[in-house]
Amino acid sequence: MMTEDRNVRIEIPSKAARILDRLMNAGHEAYVVGGCVRDSLLGIEPHDWDITTSARPEAVKALFKKTVDTGLKHGTVTVLLQGEGFEVTTYRVDGAYKDGRHPEKVTFTSSLAEDLRRRDFTINAMAYNDRDGLVDLFGGQKDLEEGLIRAVGCPRERFSEDALRIMRAVRFAARFGFRIEEKTREAAASMAGNLKLVSAERIRAELDALLVSPHPEMLRDLYEMGITAVFLPEFDLCMETPQVNPHHMYTVGEHTIQSIRGVAPDLTLRLTMLLHDFGKPAARTTDSRGIDHFWGHPEISEKISRDILRRLRYDNRTRDRVLKLVLCHDDILRLTEAGIRRYMVKIGPDLFPLLLQVKAADIRAQSMYMRAQKESILLRAGILYERVARRGDCVRMADLAVKGEDLIRAGMEPGPRMGEVLKAMFEEVLENPRHNTRSWLLERFGEEISEKPPGKQGQ
Ligand code: ATP
Ligand code: MG
Repeated sequence: MMTEDRNVRIEIPSKAARILDRLMNAGHEAYVVGGCVRDSLLGIEPHDWDITTSARPEAVKALFKKTVDTGLKHGTVTVLLQGEGFEVTTYRVDGAYKDGRHPEKVTFTSSLAEDLRRRDFTINAMAYNDRDGLVDLFGGQKDLEEGLIRAVGCPRERFSEDALRIMRAVRFAARFGFRIEEKTREAAASMAGNLKLVSAERIRAELDALLVSPHPEMLRDLYEMGITAVFLPEFDLCMETPQVNPHHMYTVGEHTIQSIRGVAPDLTLRLTMLLHDFGKPAARTTDSRGIDHFWGHPEISEKISRDILRRLRYDNRTRDRVLKLVLCHDDILRLTEAGIRRYMVKIGPDLFPLLLQVKAADIRAQSMYMRAQKESILLRAGILYERVARRGDCVRMADLAVKGEDLIRAGMEPGPRMGEVLKAMFEEVLENPRHNTRSWLLERFGEEISEKPPGKQGQ
């Protein structure tokens, strides 16, 4: 039952259209497929145009001048047209993903229908070309209209082939604000344990996509479906930790979810909010009046986050930035320009504006208790920061007006004392940014510069 809808027209960019034409003119079938068809129907500009074809990889390579063997085993060749790459994949049937990573073996097929049947969700299983129109065998278009994530075929079977699809169901729902169709959701929840088999890298990619989506609160669905229990049990603990404290109105987990929603869809910010209170379950004490306290939780959060970020194989830069923000999220800021500059040195000048966003989201996910005071402190910190940043005050050693070579020229001998003098100059400049000129600093520190090291005195 080849359902082709010739009333649907998708504007295929010219380079992708050229690839389809060349394949078809050589006697093969060829369609754009998957995410780009889905996004086009939704009126969203696709970020890449994947092509599916009856042509075998060797035939694809023979038809185009520049190709890269991206995943030859899986039938994928990247065709390069004027520096732009297009993934062209041969129609295939996947075996089971035994290791939860790669299909055990893929078999090429000459049937588009078979290729579409191996895909995860109905909205991802549509193909299109100008000649045949939309090929939609599983009701993808209807599910798009109704806002439904529905497995292609039997959900239990599909999730047992590749457990990552369990997480993909939630992340696509979060991306588009869709619901997960009942049977698909039940199967996903009942099979969540299979995610144990899936590599950390693949899980991380789906978690990231969920976090930066318009509906990161669907993290709650991951919890309810028993999915976080498998790869992020620390979050389940948060969901189960109350915060009986005037500053709060949610459990730690619910507060976490609200705070994620409160920052821009940037991975560093959203990961920070996800992790910032992970230390609270362990830090929680309840006093004689029944009030919960979480003293020292940022340090514990940082420690737990370090393990998680390593476990999920985040890159070093993301890990370092997130850990700093997690550790500092509850710090009290000194509301003077010098205080802000010193804090910028501590956390890193680039991270400071992110810290302000983290703190703002944290506050907005708390109760109204003292909300105005908290926000006004943050507002003042922001104003001071803007001033410091706009003036370009020196907040890095590298921006100090005096360098090591200036000290040598002024008669100082290279050695550890030089570092001490530069550090003292930096301290001076953090207090008084106007003093960051070579002449002022060399004059003020003249004595320290000319002072002979103790061992060499009197020589
Ligand atoms: P995105 O916009 O996030 O890239 P996408 O739909 O293109 O969304 P990809 O992960 O790039 O998602 O995969 C491309 C297509 O390959 C999907 O649309 C789907 O048809 C198919 N696919 C990807 N991963 C799987 C999987 N694990 N199981 C089944 N089909 C999959
Ligand atoms: Mg894609």
